[in-house]
Amino acid sequence: MEANQFKDFGKEMIDYVASYLENIRERRVLPTVEPGYLRPLIPENAPEKPDKWQDVLQDVEKVIMPGVTHWHSPRFHAYFPTANSYPAIVADILSGAIACIGFTWIASPACTELEVVMMDWLGQMLGLPEEFLARSGGRGGGVIQGTASEATLVALLGAKAKALARTKKEKPHMSDAEIVGNLVAYASAQSHSSVERAGLLGGVRMRALEPDENNKLRGDTLEKAIKEDLEAGLIPFFAVNTLGTTSSCAFDRLDELGPVCNEYNLWLHIDAAYAGSAFVCPEYRYLMAGVEKADSFNFNPHKWLLVNFDCSAMWLKDPSWLVNAFNVDPLYLKHEQQGSAPDYRHWQIPLGRRFRALKLWFVLRLYGVENLQAHIRKQIGLAHYFESLVRCDDRFEITEEVLMGLVCFRLKGTNELNEAYIKRINGRGLIHLVPSKIRDVFFLRLAICSRFTEKGDIDVSWKEIKETANEILNNNLC
Ligand code: PLP
Repeated sequence: MEANQFKDFGKEMIDYVASYLENIRERRVLPTVEPGYLRPLIPENAPEKPDKWQDVLQDVEKVIMPGVTHWHSPRFHAYFPTANSYPAIVADILSGAIACIGFTWIASPACTELEVVMMDWLGQMLGLPEEFLARSGGRGGGVIQGTASEATLVALLGAKAKALARTKKEKPHMSDAEIVGNLVAYASAQSHSSVERAGLLGGVRMRALEPDENNKLRGDTLEKAIKEDLEAGLIPFFAVNTLGTTSSCAFDRLDELGPVCNEYNLWLHIDAAYAGSAFVCPEYRYLMAGVEKADSFNFNPHKWLLVNFDCSAMWLKDPSWLVNAFNVDPLYLKHEQQGSAPDYRHWQIPLGRRFRALKLWFVLRLYGVENLQAHIRKQIGLAHYFESLVRCDDRFEITEEVLMGLVCFRLKGTNELNEAYIKRINGRGLIHLVPSKIRDVFFLRLAICSRFTEKGDIDVSWKEIKETANEILNNNLC
């Protein structure tokens, strides 16, 4: 494809994308296709001779769209949001054009340097302590990971390297294998599955601790577990504090967990994957009181801050534990400026990395802090609006406190009734929700996901929820 054709194709595609997104609420949110739907729609082999781009574009509507779940439809309320904005899409085009692999500073200095500064901008927007920021001149700094799962794993591996070094000094008779075999990490039983996975991938024990009746992990629970493990000869070394759990958006008590971690020398990692975006609004920062006690902090601008996937922001007070733990230094990756700027390959698991800071830069500049705050406030407001509708109908109950853009609710009655209910809602295909279960109570989660969502859209979703409830309750359909 030559530049002239690229310009025509690109312009047509931009038109298609804008019209797809602006009219997205007209589409059925969940597709009706069956597994295997796609193969018969395209040839068995790649074409010998090039197709025309116009034909490819036409096939998007015929082949792809019938099998798309429309995550940016205001009728999509499942999981948590994934971000989507025009500035981020345009930045990804530029990133695709530059197409550098910024594993070291010299591999593309702008790629590293913009990331360092953007992570400082973002850290200041959240009100993170200076110790986490590169501009402080200390050790701290930020990095863009692909996902929150990677951030948790990377933090755990840094903590493991630190605990190994410390224990070797304190107990020189112990071998590395003995030390690692005795390490133990902690998280709430309601932390994301990626936390348990980080323990498995990192080859360490991960204890799931019971949160309190409000689904928050408490300091005394952590301290009791640490004391038990110390008595058993184990080495507590790492804890994850979730701010905004996946099931119900509960906030572990960071103000209590932080001091316990500091007292017993545990690395404290904060997983604020979804809710972290809300800290751009000062009025929500009370939920991260005690953040100064943490060693690492992570949230996903690609969830709720209008930066398209993938952009998971992670800050570390002392990245040297990662840099030293993962330092493999072949000649072909060395450069003369080594040590004067971060070489982000040491801060992550893969070697290769895209120019992701561009989309952060474009989004922060083209929205401005004010509009990002307005976006968060509007979505939380819409969640409270939905909550008020549910509370007015005494067939329903709200099961968790609504703090962010997630409402957890259920029909009063059995789990079986609610299981049949959500199946019916999703089967009708107008809106899409996913359920969760805490302490054996099955409930429905309605997340405000699309940036296009307006009050009228919530009315449509509520009407659908009520009508399906009428069907199932009046006709005994469960
Ligand atoms: N942590 C929490 C609290 C989450 O809610 C999620 C996903 O929703 C994750 C971690 C995993 O995020 P990622 O897909 O970026 O790994």
